[in-house]
Amino acid sequence: MDEGYKDHPFEEIVKAVEAKIKQGVDCFQKFTCENCGSRQTIDEPNVFYTEGICEECKHTTSMLKRGCNYMAIFSITPEGKEAVASAIKEITQGEIKDKEDKPDEDIPH
Ligand SMILES: [Zn+2]
Repeated sequence: MDEGYKDHPFEEIVKAVEAKIKQGVDCFQKFTCENCGSRQTIDEPNVFYTEGICEECKHTTSMLKRGCNYMAIFSITPEGKEAVASAIKEITQGEIKDKEDKPDEDIPH
């Protein structure tokens, strides 16, 4: 099987990555050089380019045309933790509000 690397449409990847970043996950863009077929990874986290230059052959590949993928790494930075904490807080607060709307009359004393 010589299918090579799996890439997905650029827009699809950006949508997925946006959700991950909100969860405090660092994402690194990956793409396959259309000229030499080598796998490339962008060094900067959470930065997604529409085109990338191959380190092997210096060919510019359009990720808009060719698609791309990403590698997700769970962030341990304070910012990442804060993002996760506030997301959980939002969910928890929503749940508590729902419960408060219901009367507690049925609870026997
Ligand atoms: Zn190349």
